Amino acid sequence: MPSGSFGNRRISPVLPSKRGAFILVLCRVPLLANRISAQSAPKRPPRVTSRRIGIHISTAGGVHNAAERAYRLGCNTLQIFSSSPRQWAPYDLSYPLCKRMFRLRAQYDLKPLVIHTNYLVNLASTNQLFLKKSIEAFRGEIERALAVCADYLVLHPGSFRGADREAGLLQTAAAIVAATQGLDLAEAGLTILIENTAGSEFSLGGSFEQVAEVIDRLRGIVPIAACIDTCHTHVAGYDIVTQEGIYQTLLRLDATVGLNNVKVIHCNDAKAARGSKLDRHQQIGKGTIGVEPFRILLNDLRLAHAAFIAETPVETPGDDRRNVEALKKLVT
Ligand SMILES: [Zn+2]
Ligand SMILES: [Zn+2]
Repeated sequence: MPSGSFGNRRISPVLPSKRGAFILVLCRVPLLANRISAQSAPKRPPRVTSRRIGIHISTAGGVHNAAERAYRLGCNTLQIFSSSPRQWAPYDLSYPLCKRMFRLRAQYDLKPLVIHTNYLVNLASTNQLFLKKSIEAFRGEIERALAVCADYLVLHPGSFRGADREAGLLQTAAAIVAATQGLDLAEAGLTILIENTAGSEFSLGGSFEQVAEVIDRLRGIVPIAACIDTCHTHVAGYDIVTQEGIYQTLLRLDATVGLNNVKVIHCNDAKAARGSKLDRHQQIGKGTIGVEPFRILLNDLRLAHAAFIAETPVETPGDDRRNVEALKKLVT
C-alpha cells in the first residue's frame, strides 16, 4: 500500500440505525489498562522502515487509544479486536471515538488498520442456531469495521465438525455472502481476509488450497483476500525454516492464493514443532521458526505491499515493543 495520504476516504457516520447498539455496550477495563502513559511518548517520531510493521494492540480505554499505543510502540500499522475476542460483546465504537481514531491514524500514518474477528464466530458450523448467531456476529464485525474505517477484517474460515471439509468451505463462503448482504464493502475500502490456520482436527484453512478455495468462491462478490500466519503455516507442516523450504512454500502460496492476494502476514514465531498442528505463538526469533525466515519474508519484494503484524505474547513488560523492533531490524 503506498504511503502518504488516506486517499479519498473520509470518516462518516456509517449505518446510523445500527450504531446505537454499539454505544450501549461499553467495554469495562481496569483503570490502569486505560493509561496510555504506560508507554512513554517518544520525543521524536519513531523510526519506520520501508515496510508496514505493527502488532496486535489493546483498545482498552477506547478504540482511538490503540492508535496512540501503536505509534508509541514504533508501529506504522496495527491490528485490533472490535469485540471481546472470546465473548459475544462488541466494543464501544461510537462515532466520536472512530473519528478520533481516524485523525490519529492520519496524523501518525498508521495503515492499514486490521481488525481480527472474534474467535467464537464459526461460519462453517453445522448447528443452524450457532450458524445464525455467527452470521449475525460477523455482520456486526463488518459493521464495526466500516464504522472505524478499517482496511481489513481477518477471519478464520471456521470448523467443519459434523460435516466434511468441502461442505465446510462452501458453508463458510455462503455465510460470508449472507453476512455482507446490503453492505457496500468495496465502496468503503474494506476487504475480508481469510486466514490460514494450524489445521488441527476440524478447522478449515490448514492448507493454502483451502484458503484459496474460499477466496475463489467469493471473488467478484465480496472484496476478499488472504492473511497468512507464519506460526500456523509452520505448525500446519509447511517448511518455512530452511532457505529452500521457504522459497518452495512461497511458490506454493503464489500458485494457490497468489502472493498479490496476501495483504497481511501475521508474524509469529512458534512454540510447537513444525507439523504439530499446535497453535502456540512465540516471540520473534525465540521459537521453532527462528529469526531468519522473517528476514526473508520482510525483504521479499513480492510481499512489499503486505502489512507485517505480530501477534506475539506479552509475557514480560516490553515484549510488544521488542517484537516490533525485532521485525523492523530485519528490513534491509
Ligand atoms: Zn494470526
Ligand atoms: Zn494463531
